[in-house]
Amino acid sequence: MAMAMPIPSRKLFIDGEWREPVLKKRIPIVNPSTEEIIGDIPSATAEDVELAVNAARKAFSRNKGKDWPKAPGAVRAKYLRAIAAKITERKSDLAKLEAIDCGKPLDEAAWDMDDVAGCFEFYADLAEGLDAKQKAPVSLPLESFNSYILKEPIGVVGLITPWNYPLLMATWKVAPSLAAGCTAILKPSELASVTCLELADICREVGLPPGVLNILTGLGPEAGAPLASHPGVDKIAFTGSFVTGSKVMTAAAQLVKPVSLELGGKSPIIVFEDVDLDKAAEWTLFGCFWTNGQICSATSRLLVHESIAKEFIEKLVKWSKNIKISDPLEEGCRLGAIVSQGQYEKVLKFISTAKSEGATILHGGSRPEHLKKGFFIEPTIITDVTTSMEIWREEVFGPVLCVKTFSSEDEAIELANDSHYGLGAAVISNDMERCDRISQAFEAGIVWINCSQPCFTQAPWGGVKRSGFGRELGEWGLDNYLSVKQVTVYNSSEPWGWYRSPSQ
Ligand code: NAD
Repeated sequence: MAMAMPIPSRKLFIDGEWREPVLKKRIPIVNPSTEEIIGDIPSATAEDVELAVNAARKAFSRNKGKDWPKAPGAVRAKYLRAIAAKITERKSDLAKLEAIDCGKPLDEAAWDMDDVAGCFEFYADLAEGLDAKQKAPVSLPLESFNSYILKEPIGVVGLITPWNYPLLMATWKVAPSLAAGCTAILKPSELASVTCLELADICREVGLPPGVLNILTGLGPEAGAPLASHPGVDKIAFTGSFVTGSKVMTAAAQLVKPVSLELGGKSPIIVFEDVDLDKAAEWTLFGCFWTNGQICSATSRLLVHESIAKEFIEKLVKWSKNIKISDPLEEGCRLGAIVSQGQYEKVLKFISTAKSEGATILHGGSRPEHLKKGFFIEPTIITDVTTSMEIWREEVFGPVLCVKTFSSEDEAIELANDSHYGLGAAVISNDMERCDRISQAFEAGIVWINCSQPCFTQAPWGGVKRSGFGRELGEWGLDNYLSVKQVTVYNSSEPWGWYRSPSQ
């Protein structure tokens, strides 16, 4: 078993320095696997937001922008690469801190750290390429004019992130926004901020210019809300729940501030009768139980063809019994602890409500017997679900898979799309024409064929319907932080000729 490690005690990171929160408040950190308090994080309020926004504004305009937004992309890339290198150097410690802080298995946390470093590297490449893309010409119908495009950083951006991939979700916003030339204030989730504060330490170590990235830990209403409504913030990029996303959008709307929203989901996975049952079972379980089921894109609504349903569900139960649930630092752990007591109770309440409404808890549904402490929930498989049940319609954000059967492709698509959400969707079948048809029919921003959840920094990520709008990752992630300026030139030697010359 990997050893637990002490949690570094940190302050807020503002203007390149560690600072005590103005009101000196701190929030305890609870290890979800042991329920013990293992440290605390600073709790920012509106007063600290003010300082951080001022620092970011100053960094955006310092030396007329030449120090950051107007610096060559290669200069910004150098810092992003230095951060990536430090993440890689500290990977093992960061992964342990992440696993302890949010309860995810250590192997997954280590995977996240590779993705974090890869994401900084990826956006370093795009920052380097940005200068060459400036002044891209626009084709016009009049020869006497020519136009070109300047892509400019939006300004000071507020980045608000959740707890399920604490450092990775932050990186999906920090890396492209800095690559674009923005300066930023990151507000991670109060439930898991430890690795984001380590990112602050790394920024200090690599000498990132002061104010370019400021990191404020704290509660949503106390630190997130003043950030979202601050007039000195030019854009808000938010990842979190639908309810909070809607509040953030309302706050931003007061100043017509652009927002991008990555929200929740209730994603379907359709399994057809022509599949290899073992392969399909593994992807189905991975799609829902990976990261303890706390994945925005979890394919938590299984639609399985009625002709294979009995055998397939039996297989899912058998495989689920084999999943190792343990302290996340234990070797081979595949299901760790739910992030907090509040979230743990919420997931159990979803399960008990489903039961009281007539659903069958076929497997799991409670704390594993061998774990007396910690917010652990067994992988849970629920059948006899109706489409009106809360468990079928709402995001549980825990290791809970609901199952329904279907008899035709049309019925499967109708059931899959019958949701307010539209983040991910998966189909498993050996008939690639059918997969292609279904991928076009899915109302979702991300479609997986013969798999579920793999996510690549190069490909766009985001949802439709109540799963939000805007795309992260890939070049789309960079565009999130750039505004497009049109420059039009009149190049004729002739006068325009609309008015008579006064001399005539
Ligand atoms: P949450 O909405 O409770 O909190 C998200 C962030 O918003 C936190 O930092 C929180 O402190 C802050 N916040 C809370 N109230 C606020 C307010 N009034 N103003 C501004 N900020 C405020 O979400 P969570 O519980 O941290 O994360 C889980 C949710 O995130 C799930 O719904 C999940 O689906 C979603 N998520 C989506 C994606 C995606 O890519 N679409 C990725 C990960 C998580």
